[in-house]
Amino acid sequence: MSPKVLNTLTRQIEEITPRPGEGKNLSLYTCGPTVYAHAHIGNFRAYVFEDLLQRHLHERGFAVRRVMNLTDVDDKTIRGAHAAGLPLADYTRPFKAAFFEDVKTLRLLPAEAYPEATHPEHIARMIAMIGALIERGHAYQAEDGSVYFRIASFADYGHLAHVDLEGQRPGQRVASDEYDKEAVADFALWKTWVPEDGAVGWESPWGKGRPGWHIECSAMATGLLGETIDIHCGGVDNIFPHHEAEIAQCECAGDGKKPFVRYWMHCAHLMVEGSKMAKSAGNFFTLRDLLDKGWTGREVRYALISVHYRGSLNFTLDGLAAARTALGRLDAWRARLTEAAGTENATESPARTTEEFFAALDDDLNISGALAVLFETLRESNRRMDEGTLTPKQARGLLDWLARVDGVLALEPAAATTIPPEVEELVSGRAAARAAKEWKKSDEIRDQIASLGWLVKDTKDGQKITRHP
Ligand code: AMP
Ligand code: ZN
Repeated sequence: MSPKVLNTLTRQIEEITPRPGEGKNLSLYTCGPTVYAHAHIGNFRAYVFEDLLQRHLHERGFAVRRVMNLTDVDDKTIRGAHAAGLPLADYTRPFKAAFFEDVKTLRLLPAEAYPEATHPEHIARMIAMIGALIERGHAYQAEDGSVYFRIASFADYGHLAHVDLEGQRPGQRVASDEYDKEAVADFALWKTWVPEDGAVGWESPWGKGRPGWHIECSAMATGLLGETIDIHCGGVDNIFPHHEAEIAQCECAGDGKKPFVRYWMHCAHLMVEGSKMAKSAGNFFTLRDLLDKGWTGREVRYALISVHYRGSLNFTLDGLAAARTALGRLDAWRARLTEAAGTENATESPARTTEEFFAALDDDLNISGALAVLFETLRESNRRMDEGTLTPKQARGLLDWLARVDGVLALEPAAATTIPPEVEELVSGRAAARAAKEWKKSDEIRDQIASLGWLVKDTKDGQKITRHP
């Protein structure tokens, strides 16, 4: 079975097949964070969807070469560095480090490479691509010194976003990295140095300046993955102008015969009260905000993964609470199956469900269908354990199946860890408060313990401490 997905370019559901001669190899390019602030969980909706895609492709036997860029020079990073009074690299460094921590917390498979736009090798490739575009008549240096892509030179411009270019005003130019469809115009490939850029700038045949955001991705994607990439993902906000521009640049700088990307996939936005979660709107949560409130990475992962990637997902704390409940049920089920399987090594596979879960994901990553199979299996086997009719072999079979499912979902409980000293200290303080019947204080300490990611339960043998699921 091969997964089928909705290709934004054709608006068709298409089966993902590797290119002839490529065996089971696929390349995947995913637009990464602009490191001018901490990534918010809207960004992570995109990265979690891409992770689900990659893991499911692995399950289906594909080897995936995945590249995710870091945008460490653009309008926003320069503005941020300027406001902070820091050199660009010093300003972006902590956001890069935080991003990699978040990747681990959310259990995202690491990409093969995380190219940074400011790396001299990539800057050189951007300059070479711009040179090729000028040579082929697709770009020009304007009076302001910047180099622009001539959209009238590329008949396919607008196809990805389905923008009708009829009636567009030729010769209009736009220098900023982001603009909407109404402002469609020749976009900047190389921006000439201006005083606000401070120390940011590279020498080029067109004078000192810096690359536009779109050429960064084009150069890094083709530089690392070749002229044609199998799958390219991002959030829907990336379709226009970013991905539209990436296609124009790559196909015009090459021989014009190879498509830049075979399958385009875009996830819907994470919303907050009807608006897109965005740094600029100020309505965002970072992963750190949620961890500080006592939520865990796997709860956030579950909340983000459990809604179809093209479906609308409204972010609420109730959604996180529902994720906590669902994970608690899965953990209790796993523990019960482990007990029921005992020392049995032989496996009896849960025939009906074995493939259904993965078949649902083949259908454009139908996660709702897949989770329905998982929870139906949970209910059914719990019922059989209640009746005492589930054999140890069947329990082992379900555990093996669950391990395979978890290769895609990555939701297993974190390995047991030792309780940190500050939590131990709070636990002793709470024991003292309880001994003195100071219940309010005891509850307050329990909340403090929870905010550090630990759960405390009162049993007849005293307090039991476990890691938050
Ligand atoms: P940025 O850091 O803004 O360049 O965005 C990085 C990635 O996150 C891109 O693929 C965006 O499309 C995606 N993204 C940004 N905001 C959201 C959101 N609210 N929901 C889903 N994806 C988003
Ligand atoms: Zn990009």
